[in-house]
Amino acid sequence: MVIDLKPIYDAEGQSVELDYRVSEERLGEIKGCVLEDFSVKGKVYNRAGIVHLNFSAAFTLKAECDRCLKPFDRDYFFDFKHILVRTVNTDNDEYIVTQGDSIDVDELAVQDALLQIPTKLLCKEDCKGLCYICGADLNLGECGCER
Ligand SMILES: [Zn+2]
Ligand SMILES: [Zn+2]
Repeated sequence: MVIDLKPIYDAEGQSVELDYRVSEERLGEIKGCVLEDFSVKGKVYNRAGIVHLNFSAAFTLKAECDRCLKPFDRDYFFDFKHILVRTVNTDNDEYIVTQGDSIDVDELAVQDALLQIPTKLLCKEDCKGLCYICGADLNLGECGCER
């Protein structure tokens, strides 16, 4: 969803509510993970001349366990807060410089979410993985190999 920020930048107290689902085409496969049912809820608002974008992202991650390769689903929920600016004089990662007074919230939300997903994804904390000799799933029991 692309939001026109001009009216928000130009008037204190102005706000837009966000409550929508990111379309499947914007998700797809990213870094070997698939995100599904991605919903965004939040608000863009101008308070005292500063434009804030706060939202929560809820989604399901479909991934493969790094140890046993079993596919699994996991639900995530994160809150994000940003300050939007038209231009910035200093390098400040907290500010998002918006191009042409609009912002693509889908892209931002998906990027934010991906940064929160751990790089190592396990189906469960204590996943035993696969036997490196016979390839058996050790979560299902010992295979009997001499390891
Ligand atoms: Zn596993
Ligand atoms: Zn084995």
